Order: sequence, then C-alpha cells, then structure tokens
Amino acid sequence: MKHIEFTATNGTFDINDFINRCDAATMGEELPPAENQSEPQEPIPAAVPVADGVDPICYSPLEEVLEELRMGRLVLMTDDPHRENEADLICAGQFATPQNINFMATHARGLICVPMAPERVDALGLPMQAQHNTEKHHTAFTVSVDAREGTTTGISAFERSLTTMKLADAKSTLDDFVQPGHCFPLRAVEGGVIRRAGHTEGTVDILRLAGLEPVGVCCEIMKDDGTMARLGELGSFQREYGLKACSLAQIIEHRQHTEKLIVREEVVKLPTDFGDFDCYSYHSKVDGKTHLALVHGPIDPEKPILCRVHSECLTGDVFASRRCDCGSQLHAAMRRVAREGGVILYLRQEGRGIGLSAKLHAYKLQEQGYDTVDANIKLGFAPDLRDYGVGAQILRDLGIRHLRLLTNNPLKIQGLSGHGLDVVEHVAISIPANTDNQHYLDTKRDRMGHLL
Ligand SMILES: [Zn+2]
Repeated sequence: MKHIEFTATNGTFDINDFINRCDAATMGEELPPAENQSEPQEPIPAAVPVADGVDPICYSPLEEVLEELRMGRLVLMTDDPHRENEADLICAGQFATPQNINFMATHARGLICVPMAPERVDALGLPMQAQHNTEKHHTAFTVSVDAREGTTTGISAFERSLTTMKLADAKSTLDDFVQPGHCFPLRAVEGGVIRRAGHTEGTVDILRLAGLEPVGVCCEIMKDDGTMARLGELGSFQREYGLKACSLAQIIEHRQHTEKLIVREEVVKLPTDFGDFDCYSYHSKVDGKTHLALVHGPIDPEKPILCRVHSECLTGDVFASRRCDCGSQLHAAMRRVAREGGVILYLRQEGRGIGLSAKLHAYKLQEQGYDTVDANIKLGFAPDLRDYGVGAQILRDLGIRHLRLLTNNPLKIQGLSGHGLDVVEHVAISIPANTDNQHYLDTKRDRMGHLL
C-alpha cells in the first residue's frame, strides 16, 4: 500500500474524481492528472454549494429569503449536491394557501409534505409511520392526516391547505385530524440542520429564523420527463416564477455563527504513550455527550492544522479489536500529531453513529455472512450516520480554520467543509491489514468510498 496525499480545495472538489484517483493510487498506478486543476481557483464560500450544470440556481442572502417567507411566498431550498442534489419548493405552514399548494402540485409535482418541529409532533401526539425507519435518508414520516372538519376527500388544494394550516396552528389537537389522510407530516430532528442537513430540518429551521410557526410545506421538483430536477437545471424554473433561493449550507452557516452548540468545560494535561497533549473536554448541547480534543502544539488560525477527526470505537480503540482498524488509526494519528503538532478530535459516536449495542448486533450479522454496509441496512440504519456539525464547532472553538485532515474517508471532507472549515489537504493514514479485518477493509474501500 502506497502512502498518498491529496489536495482538495473546497468548492472545486469532485468526489468521484477523488475516489478514482485514490483507487488508482492504491493499486500502484501513477495518479492521472486531476481535471481543471491547472490554475489554482479561489475557494467558493461554504454557503454556496457546488451546483454542476448549465442552468444553475442563483442564491439570495438569507435575510431576503426570510422576508419572502414572512410575506407568505414560496422559495427554493437546495441541499448538498452530494446528498439528494435536489431543490424543494417550501413555504410557511401558516401561509399554506390553496394557491401555494396548487402551485406545488402543478409546477413542482413531487410529494407535498409538512415538515414539523419535533416538539410540535410530540405535542400533537402524531405517531411515526414506520417503527424502524429504513428509508435511505431517514425521512421521518408520521402517519398521514386530514383535517376532521371542513374536508371531504382531503386531496384538493383547498382541503390540503386547510389541513396544513391546522397542523401549523399551535392550538390544534390530535382530535382535529383523522388518520390516514392526504397531508404527510415529517418530524424534524432535534437540533435541526446542525444534526441532519435535510429539507425537513432546513424548512423548520428557516421558519424559526423568520419568526414563524415551525411547521412548513415542502415539495420536490420533478421535470416534465418524470425525473427529478437537479440543482444545475433549475435556473430557468427559478427565473420564470421569480423565486428566491437558499441552500441548507447557508442555514447551517448562519446557525454556526449565531448559536453556540458546544461548551468548553475543562482543559487538562494528558501525557500518553504516544506523546503529550492538552486534553479539552466539550459538552455538546446537540447530543448531550462529552467530546474530547487532544491538542499538541500551537494553533494558528492562519495556518493549516493537522487534524484527525476520530469517531469512538470502543472495541477497536480500547480492546484493540482486529475486526476493524480504528485502534491502529487512532494511535498512528496520535503518534503523528505528537510529532508534527495538531489535533485529535475524539467524537463519541460509536459504530458510525448507530451505538455500541447496535454495532455488536451488526457484528453478529456479519458473522452470518453480511458485510458491514448490508448489516447496518438490515438493522435499519443508513450506512453512515455520523455527522460532523459538533466536531466542526469544536475545531472552530480551538481556533482552527484550515485543516490538513488525517483520514481515509472522503465523506468526512464533505461533512466538515459545509461547516465553515476549509479542508486544504487530505492526508491518508496507511495501516497494514491483518487476516481478521481484511474483509472489513475491502468493504470500506469498495462500498463506502474509503481510501485504503
Ligand atoms: Zn472500529
């Protein structure tokens, strides 16, 4: 295995090109030249997502989009090009007029849904549609509803408008609705876009920012040929109907700047077998957990800092399990950071975010022949639930702005660069495989895009 180093400039990063280049490198080939890398480009600010295509959307400052929503108008909201790569039409639930619903049904033609703040779903006592959510992006549908009073079939724009406005009304109770129905409430994740960068959370968060009820309407945009419109194809749609647009990244960035989601609790000396560190503990308001940062040497915001973002793996980190390579990766990173200076960020998100007990269940499935990706899917989890919003705030709190990221996982780069951190370089950690984890490492490389 050859040690490889890459430069991934924020904004010009192409994940597929990146993986291909790394695959070639690990197979001992010479790296093909990266495309469009001849001239260094200005990094695009995190708030503007990369939308490939001939007809991209034009984004407005967030304040203008908030004002549109307060006026009861529809706006476009885009997610990450690497996620769904879709724009949804959204509006406030309290302004879900028959005209707005009819516009969505006529021109957007996706599924009209009602994203709701979790406390509003709980206050109504709406049950979830699926006990075990196995949907790819964990879209959290509750049971569908219609307003009990004033509806006949529930499907006309007028009746869906009525049901949605009732859902947005804090005084409504479960008795005001019948189930099932023609409106599809979605339960946003606690913590919003900081925890999950999806349209459900984005809609609720932006309505809160606008000072409106945290219940909205969203609808994906389908093209005439029946396929979903991608970000790079929606410019003319936007211009035709005079729609303002924002991205989830803009909302994340706004919240990162205006809200402090982590609290620095303690700084202690931590001498280790691998070198001496200052150990910072942080309490996260998002997940209630204590995360650690081990720092060696000074941190200069102007300079790229060598950084390992490590997700907790009890069996690998503590027991030196040979089922994975986490322990060896952590220790190799600690050795390197102790030598060159930098940070080990230790996030308490066990088993790619599924938790210890679920991870052991997944191990059992693997013993029965599933690989690590299939085992998680079988248990009802997305292949990788880890999120890096909290980690990004900790890195920023430590004064870090530019990273040289020690990782074999390109998803981490996407996860962090949306949060106002500039990943200037990817530094691979090379760990020799052993007989027990060869299959696991093959799976990480072949199915999860890891660079091994
Ligand atoms: Zn592990």
